[in-house]
Parts: sequence; structure tokens; C-alpha cells
Amino acid sequence: MNVDKQSDSAISKREFKTGEIMFNKKTILAMLSISFLALMICGIMDLSAAEKKHIIVIDPAHGGQEAGIKLTDSAAEKDITLAVALSLKKELTKEKNVDVILTRDSDKTISLEDRKKNIEKIKPDLLLSLHVNGGFGKNAEGFEVYYPEFGEDTNKEKKTAKDDKFQLKSKCQNDSLKMAKIIQENLNNLFPRRGRGLRKADLPVTDGLLVPSLTVEMSFATNPEDKKKLLSSKTQGEISQSLAKSVRTFFR
Ligand SMILES: [Zn+2]
Repeated sequence: MNVDKQSDSAISKREFKTGEIMFNKKTILAMLSISFLALMICGIMDLSAAEKKHIIVIDPAHGGQEAGIKLTDSAAEKDITLAVALSLKKELTKEKNVDVILTRDSDKTISLEDRKKNIEKIKPDLLLSLHVNGGFGKNAEGFEVYYPEFGEDTNKEKKTAKDDKFQLKSKCQNDSLKMAKIIQENLNNLFPRRGRGLRKADLPVTDGLLVPSLTVEMSFATNPEDKKKLLSSKTQGEISQSLAKSVRTFFR
């Protein structure tokens, strides 16, 4: 009996030991699996963060039959806005987190309605419309930055501040103003003391849409000094670099 008892206890001891080893192996396996899973999830999250791209729509105003303001016999607003937009797109393709879409990339007529429909479909994080200013006499000069208000807040909207549309609207207001300030600062560095201030106005191209948007009136075609600059590819490049810098700052 004694022998049997001894062997019994020996067996149970061995089993216990085997159990312990198995338990340890299981624990290690489980820990490894959890670590692997955590690494996988982090990797996927990192990847999606890296893949998250900001979409900016650049709108070179006018085009085709619709020339905008004439600068010379052979150059109109539509040419300047397109040149700057193409150059700006080129600048921004270096950015991994920014996707650039143009409302037009050649000299073609696109109605305001079609541009608007396109923008509505794309739902960009930012829209930048480029124009050339004119009028107010030959002395009017410099650049202007316009941002929309997205309509006045009504009391009803204020009461339902948690409403999705209200939230989106205030995001659009904030983002537009934020970008307007960034652009103004950078263009001020390029054209010192030629800023005509930030101006609130609904932009025709995004009127009725909830998209953070800006219009930049790059300079006056009706001012001889401004016109010379607008026609120079050097200045066009400088404007696009200044706008690219603003986009990078905005999305940082
Ligand atoms: Zn225009």
C-alpha cells in the first residue's frame, strides 16, 4: 500500500508538474498572441493615420468662354488663376497627407453649378477659389481674402447646438476663418502692406454648401503695378508657394 501510495503521489506530482509546464506554455502563448494582436492593431491604426488624406479642392475661377477680367489682349483672369492653381497643385503633390483636386485643369468652360455639384460630391476638407480683382479705379491694389459666414445663426440653431448640421457649420466657420488668417499672414510676407484685410462674404462657388472655403483675390488687374506682377510667372510661382505653405500649416 505504501509503495502504491508513493507511486500515486509521484504520479500526481509529475502530473502537477506537467500541468504547470503546460500552464506556463499556455500563458506564454497567450501573451505572445496578445502582443502580436496589439502590434497588428497598432500597425493598422498607424497605417490608417498615415493613409488619412486631407482633400483640398482648388478652383481656378473662370475658364473657356468665360475669361473673367482682361489683363492684356492675350491674357485674362482665367489664365492667371489656372497658372497659379496648376503650380499650387504641383507644390502640394509633395505632401503625403494632402490630395489636390482641381475644378478645372485646362482652359475650359465650367459653369458655377457644375463646379458646385462637383464640390458637393467630393466634400473636401478645404476649398480654395482663385480670382483676380478689378475695378475701384487704378489706385486699388493688393490682395483680398474672403471667407463665408454660412448664414447667420438663428436662435433655433443655437438651442440645438448638439445638432450635427450646427456642429458642421461651426466647424466650417472656424476652419474658413483660420485658413483666411493663415493665407493673409503668408501673403502679407510676400506683398508687404498690400493686404486689404479679411472680408466676410458668401462665395458663389460654395454658396449653400457646408465646406470650409476661401476666395483669394490675388491682386488687381486694373492696377498697373499689380497687373505686371500677375502676368509674371515668377510672381505666380511665389503666390502658389505662399498658398502651399498656408495649406501645409492649415492641415498640420
Ligand atoms: Zn473672378
